[in-house]
Parts: sequence; C-alpha cells; structure tokens
Amino acid sequence: MSSTDLENLPMDRAISAVTHDGSFRVLAVRSTRTTRGIAKSQRASGPTVENLADLASGTLLVRLTMAPNYRVQGIIQGAGGQGTLVADSWPDGGTRGLVRASGPVVFGEGARMQLMRSLPNGAMHQGIVEVSREHRVSGAVMNYLLESEQVTSALGVASVVSEEGEILLSGGYVVQLLPECTEPPLAVMYERLRHDFADLSRVLAEHDGDPDKLVAEILSGMEYTRTLEFDLDFRCRCSSERVLASLATVGKHELEDMIRKAEPLAITCDYCRQEYQVQTEMLRGLLTTS
Ligand SMILES: [Zn+2]
Repeated sequence: MSSTDLENLPMDRAISAVTHDGSFRVLAVRSTRTTRGIAKSQRASGPTVENLADLASGTLLVRLTMAPNYRVQGIIQGAGGQGTLVADSWPDGGTRGLVRASGPVVFGEGARMQLMRSLPNGAMHQGIVEVSREHRVSGAVMNYLLESEQVTSALGVASVVSEEGEILLSGGYVVQLLPECTEPPLAVMYERLRHDFADLSRVLAEHDGDPDKLVAEILSGMEYTRTLEFDLDFRCRCSSERVLASLATVGKHELEDMIRKAEPLAITCDYCRQEYQVQTEMLRGLLTTS
C-alpha cells in the first residue's frame, strides 16, 4: 500500500474525559487512518469495508478502556461461517487488520465476535458474543464489556464510506458508567445517545471525526475534565527478524531444500502486504542455529 493514501489525513487520536459529578467516563476516537490503512492493505470491498472498519474501531476502543499495557484482538466469524475478520490493537497505538474470506463477511445469524486481551507476560482473557445485523459491532462490543468485563457502557462505532468503497471517516465513543452514577444524569445520557447519536456516521461527519468535539457533544451541559490523550495509527508489527523467526518453525529438510534451490525467498506479511526478501545466506544461518 502506498503511504500517499494516508498522507493527507490528520493523525488518529483518542481522548478521555470524566464528568465532575463522577457519573461518566467518556472515550472518543477518530480512527480514519487506521481503518483506511487496514481496508486498503486487505483490499476489502463491499460490505466488508465497513464491517472491518467497525471491528478495528471497536477493538481499539476496548483496548483504550483497559490498562495501557494490554493488547486487544477482535475476531469476527461472518454469518453462515463465511470468512473471518481480524483487528489487532497494540499498546503503542498501532492497529492492524486481516481479512480471510472468499466473499463478503457479513453480520447476522451465526456471526460471532471473539475478543481477547493479553498482557506481555502471556496472561489472556477472552469472551465471545454474537454480532447481530441490527446492533452490529457496537452492540457486540457493548455486550462483551458487560458480560466479560462487568463494565456497563454505551458504545458506538461507525464509518463514512464513499461510493467507491473508500473510508472517508471512522470513529466512535464509549460512555462508561462510573460507580457514583445516579438516575437523573443516566436518563439524560440515555436519551441523548438514543436520539442525537442514533446516526453516528452523520455525527462523525458533522464534526469531521474530531474526538474533542464528540466528547463535548456527548457531555453537553455537564462539567468535565479531559484526562488522557492517545496517538493512534495504522501500523503493523512485522520485520525481517520476525519473518526469519517464523521460518525457524520450518523443518530441517525443507530448509535444506530451499537452500539447495538457492533462490531468494519472498515472504509477504498477511497484515500489511510488506514483502521481505530472505536470502539463502540467512536460511543457512537458520539451519546452523536450529
Ligand atoms: Zn506487516
């Protein structure tokens, strides 16, 4: 993917805020570069573009609700067992994605989302929720947070996609209920999200996805303090070292065979389509260390 596709877009950003009455914590994100980078590198088309973008924004929001050293992965198995979408969000702010499908990956009957969070030491937690056609990724992630993390929240992710299938804007929010939350502010918030935020794509377009404006609108009339800010982007984790390390699992005979052929090996990263050339010398090194 050429970097010019993302060059003219402002950096992705998330902010968090807490209301002074102790009722709500809000996180808002603009994730356009992340979702466009993922969709383009995966050559996503049709309904898969928006579904993949929503998964990436949702996975990102889940990570941001957690302690900063968690990595969060979201995996959707499409309706009717048709294809898989993956989003992989890391503590450094980078998120990447993957499509494994021969046709469109859609939501509805049988579509499932698996969310996994893991720590660098390997500790892992996961939950599985359904992805309905009506409530989509937003509903699925909200259910995950409630059932698996015991967090009551309202969450929305959305994108604006051009007729040509290019992502123009992506973003979302999560409103978490804090322990001090009481009935009156909750009712106001509920009504606001139900009415003013029902069409989140329109809201995002109005504010050009600016997370500050999104938070200001969600918390309109309430006093709040902005607490944290995060820089985010589409970013992969691959490197020539990692590619070489992945070859270490290839059997000795296969390695010898590759060396005998003496052709430089080209390996492409499934996530970002970066191509790596592995020279025969490097393979020989692998053989002596294994
Ligand atoms: Zn990569």
